[in-house]
Amino acid sequence: MTTEWSELLDRLLALQSIDSKIRRLDQVLTRAPGEVSQREAAMASIDEKIKKVADRTRLLRAQILLRENELKTHEKKIEKLQEQAAELKTNKEYIASRSEIANVRGECDRLQNEVLKILEVVEQADAKIKELEGDRKHESDRIDQLKAEMASKLEDVKKDRDALASTRPAAMEDIPKEQLELYERARKARGTAMAALEGAYCSGCGEPQTRNDMYAVQNRTRLVLCRGCNRILYQP
Ligand SMILES: [Zn+2]
Repeated sequence: MTTEWSELLDRLLALQSIDSKIRRLDQVLTRAPGEVSQREAAMASIDEKIKKVADRTRLLRAQILLRENELKTHEKKIEKLQEQAAELKTNKEYIASRSEIANVRGECDRLQNEVLKILEVVEQADAKIKELEGDRKHESDRIDQLKAEMASKLEDVKKDRDALASTRPAAMEDIPKEQLELYERARKARGTAMAALEGAYCSGCGEPQTRNDMYAVQNRTRLVLCRGCNRILYQP
């Protein structure tokens, strides 16, 4: 059993070496698009902010227009009152007309002040939009750059990965079904199927092993699964 298990362990370690290389390449393949989608999400959030600010400035501009129309009406009214003033007969009528003109002028001043204040806010919002558009361009340039880099790099990585994957069936050929199942179960659950024993501990999860198991791993007498993570243990 000892020699048999020792040979089987070597086969499992060979398979594990292939699988860990495949895993590293898979990480490269999935991480790169991850950064792109992260930046695309950042860009979408910038777009949303730009839209919000733009919507607000549109409302503010409408309010300015409203006040400007009101101002025009008031100015016409003042002109009319001034024309009428020339034909007034009594002092009382004249005083009443002057007071009315003063009222309308006061209203015009108020509207003009409001327009200035709103314009100030609109200018700030326009500056904010410009700033956000700068951020957006930065993200979009980086996405283009990443995509270009990825296209050429990932092609090579994928080729390497597929080449490695094609060597798996041969590596699995002489491993009995039962052990292969234990191996695959740990690989699917943990990412890696095997873990080195470090002293009394599993290097995969840190779980301490019994003295018996430790000896078995060190002397390659039987298959030992870590009691914490179910990885197949080996002595490095
Ligand atoms: Zn473990």
